[in-house]
Amino acid sequence: MSTTTNVFAGLALDRHAEERDDAAWVQAQVEDRRSRYLLLCDDARAGHRALVAAEGDRLRLLGSVEQRALLPQAPATYLGEDAQGPLFSIRVEAALGAQLASELAARELDLRSAGVALPAFDAGLFAYARALAHWQANARYCSRCAAPLDLLALGHRMRCSDPACANEYFPRLDPAVIVIVSWGDRCLLGRQASWDPTRWSTLAGFVEPGESLEDAVRREVHEESGVVVGECRYHSSQPWPFPSALMLGFEARASDPQICVGRELADARWFSAGELVDGILAGHLSVSPPLSVSHALIAHWLREQGVELDAITAMAPAQT
Ligand SMILES: [Zn+2]
Repeated sequence: MSTTTNVFAGLALDRHAEERDDAAWVQAQVEDRRSRYLLLCDDARAGHRALVAAEGDRLRLLGSVEQRALLPQAPATYLGEDAQGPLFSIRVEAALGAQLASELAARELDLRSAGVALPAFDAGLFAYARALAHWQANARYCSRCAAPLDLLALGHRMRCSDPACANEYFPRLDPAVIVIVSWGDRCLLGRQASWDPTRWSTLAGFVEPGESLEDAVRREVHEESGVVVGECRYHSSQPWPFPSALMLGFEARASDPQICVGRELADARWFSAGELVDGILAGHLSVSPPLSVSHALIAHWLREQGVELDAITAMAPAQT
């Protein structure tokens, strides 16, 4: 049983999923003076960016008075309720986002940076809002009849605007498995050709239709490295809205350790704990950063070998 809370996971928010279709309840949320609004600025390259206070490390949420003054007509997506009341998100065009950032003494921040820099609640809220924003921005027409879609349930569902069709759509989520495979006292890591030559990570891939998660783990590991996986069990998961993945972390044991690197990777190797520690301390090896579940999986495996990854990386030369 894992006690890890991965970055973006564990968001303490009551989503009120059952109430989002109740018109009277929806009206009460919209009119609640305690409501706060997370602004998401369109960014074609990096995805939506959030407004963050110029000083400190918190999201710069708009209060209801600010929202009514600055963005009275903008459609808001309901995120949920915390102890201080309802939380919504609003998408704005890049130019308006830049203007509001200036007026509100705020700055724009991308989600990867937020995952490292912001408190867990703020990072998780941003990840959740960004996943919905990406879906809303990209699912605009019915894939059955091509009529425009209407947004319903405070931003959580869409329906084809042609009553003869009325096909419904839900936020897209792409499950992906990510796995640390062990063989005796070694673990399997791989690297992609586009990465920094020192960087190594756990193997990962999307789940295909007709597969269980365990099937996907076995297929991906074999395709990417040639290694055959035997025992396989769940570790932990992580929302990964880049743009719409759900990362499902596993630990597995090899039943055949023979490596035959597939087309997706530049290299795959077995590493002992000592080799990882020596490589990290010498600065010629790095593993996935703390943002990702991959880091948690490598840290978990190293801990079983008696090594604390974060203590080792803290002693390593700074990465450029
Ligand atoms: Zn349709």
